[in-house]
Amino acid sequence: MIFNMERETLPREELEALQLNRLQNLCERVYANVPFYRQRFDEAGITPGDIHTLEDIKHLPFTEKQDLRDNYPFGLFAVPKENIVRIHASSGTTGKATVVGYTARDLDSWATLMARSLSAAGITRSDLIHNAYGYGLFTGGLGAHYGAEKLGATVIPMSGGATKRQVHLMHDFGATAITCTPSYALHLYEVGLDEGIDMRNEPLRIGVFGAEPWTDAMREDIEEKMGISAVNVYGLSEVMGPGVSIECAEAKCGMHIFEDHFLPEIIDPVTGEVLKPGETGELVLTTLTKEGVPLIRYRTRDITALDYTPCRCGRTHVRMRRVMGRSDDMLIILGVNVFSSQIESILVETDGLSPHYQIVISRDGTLDSLEVRVEISETLIADGAVRNLQQLESRIQKTIKEYLGVSANVRLVEPRSIQRSEGKAKRVLDLRTQQ
Ligand code: ADP
Ligand code: ZN
Repeated sequence: MIFNMERETLPREELEALQLNRLQNLCERVYANVPFYRQRFDEAGITPGDIHTLEDIKHLPFTEKQDLRDNYPFGLFAVPKENIVRIHASSGTTGKATVVGYTARDLDSWATLMARSLSAAGITRSDLIHNAYGYGLFTGGLGAHYGAEKLGATVIPMSGGATKRQVHLMHDFGATAITCTPSYALHLYEVGLDEGIDMRNEPLRIGVFGAEPWTDAMREDIEEKMGISAVNVYGLSEVMGPGVSIECAEAKCGMHIFEDHFLPEIIDPVTGEVLKPGETGELVLTTLTKEGVPLIRYRTRDITALDYTPCRCGRTHVRMRRVMGRSDDMLIILGVNVFSSQIESILVETDGLSPHYQIVISRDGTLDSLEVRVEISETLIADGAVRNLQQLESRIQKTIKEYLGVSANVRLVEPRSIQRSEGKAKRVLDLRTQQ
């Protein structure tokens, strides 16, 4: 279902005209109100009046996560503090958390975009949404919450944790949709089985999962186990929160970026050069409507590609490919670049394994070594196939070497021995930094 038919299906020329108009207005606003941007524009020898086309954006300076940190906490706010009605902060996955502020209008836009997102995933006002994204400074919980209300669905403000209680409430209330990280969905599924609640037999029909990288293989696994349709949602606190982009239920092939609010580019993360549509690189987003902390060319560090081909759902907004990971958590093992999501694909597609894994990097003398710990499935134990574990280990090792070009030491571990997460999963353990 398309929540805002007119906006989401706007012909590209009209969409681009709207974007240009908003971009020009944005440049005026940040130049007038944010000393940081005024200085950056001046240094680059550019004024807001120099933006005549969307391509002119390439003359504008990038904003990096470090700039938010340097201006901690409120230095990039573009409106007087009394106009800010809420503060959030990033999860701090990769260092000191960054702080963002929202005006009342920003919160309304966010709720609307999240309502569009839930609607794109197939959720309607008749659904009962179990919202297990964390509530608090993290944007996941409140972001999904207000979107659900805007859509008119019923929302259970569950947050993370107390997993046993969660599965019982899902059952008792008859949740038909769930919002959380994909790793937490799997955890809920397992705990459900322990409690005699099989998600397949529950009214649950849709999951809107995001906030961490996951793979298509993981999607299939979750869909099959839980008997639901699983949809990928993307967002980041610096730019807004969840609801920057989402897959449509019709195609589930790339996430539509709400381009009337965000202007995307893909750049080469090393040279900063803008890449062509379809090429893989770092996603850069400009917030076209945000008032509290508007951002010009924000470097997300997320690696993806843009697809401008028409989508069968009828939306005209560009689609971004599933995020493989962040440029700064790419593993470099003996000179070969690997994302944990690439390892995940191989593991999840191998029979006899459960989708719970951890990647450990350590230094062996002067060489980096990679260990992949993955749980075997309970069914493998039940089948009595345990004797062949070594064979299975070397088979996975071979596949990883073949597909990714790195040598990994694969260790199969007992079911349920890898720690479960209630929010973003911590898949990579880097012992090199702890030595
Ligand atoms: P932090 O950067 O501290 O984790 P956020 O909580 O704002 O801060 O998380 C935003 C980040 O989460 C994104 O930049 C991206 O790396 C990751 N992320 C969000 N949604 C997805 C998704 N669907 N797929 C992959 N990664 C995602
Ligand atoms: Zn679509």
